[in-house]
Amino acid sequence: MFSIADNIKTVSQRIQNATKSAARPADSVTLLAVSKTKPADVVRAAYDAGLRDFGENYLQEAQDKIAQLSDLSITWHFIGPLQSNKTRLVAELFQWVHTVDREKIARRLSEQRPEGTPPLNVCIQVNINDESSKSGVSPDEVASLADTISALPGLRLRGLMCIPDPTQDEEALAATFKELSRHFAALQSRFDSVDTLSMGMSDDMEAAIAAGSTIVRIGSAIFGARNY
Ligand SMILES: *Cc1c(COP(=O)(O)O)cnc(C)c1O
Repeated sequence: MFSIADNIKTVSQRIQNATKSAARPADSVTLLAVSKTKPADVVRAAYDAGLRDFGENYLQEAQDKIAQLSDLSITWHFIGPLQSNKTRLVAELFQWVHTVDREKIARRLSEQRPEGTPPLNVCIQVNINDESSKSGVSPDEVASLADTISALPGLRLRGLMCIPDPTQDEEALAATFKELSRHFAALQSRFDSVDTLSMGMSDDMEAAIAAGSTIVRIGSAIFGARNY
């Protein structure tokens, strides 16, 4: 049995090795712990081991956990599919949303961001291997959604996110990450606020970091397998 603290050490070492191989600074990649299906005390253990960024996919589950952990200084990231009737709670409870893929969602999140709180940090989810997923905009729709988001006062456009088709071989996966990285560079040249490329999970963080990822979203390598 490995403890969560041991797993975090192993993952941090993998990130460090990957940044080194890519000749990137060690602190250029943030570890986002994906805590979906894991109870609040497990999140607390990861926090005690030094993590501050946590990702959740399911709003109702996240709502309970966020309430139970309100004594901690956690930065909460919403990384699940987002329906327009759920935007209010996301705008109220989270500091980041990685999965914005529609104008309507963006407008609602901006309107519903509570007054007096900083803008919600937003990544556009890109459907980079188009047959594999229904979520995300196609690459040629990124520019116009980015224009919309950057004009909304309650949002801050931070970058791009993808969930690649996991059935690809290593070479195709690397090409996918590189493709998103090119779209990211194009976006960065247009918007000063863009600094975040959210890609890489437990099984493919090295390839994502080699292609320029700045946030890796890691679940099972920290918390073990999920039981649904
Ligand atoms: C579950 C999930 C992850 C984490 O996946 P692991 O393979 O367990 O690291 C990352 N990103 C998203 C969007 C997820 O839904």
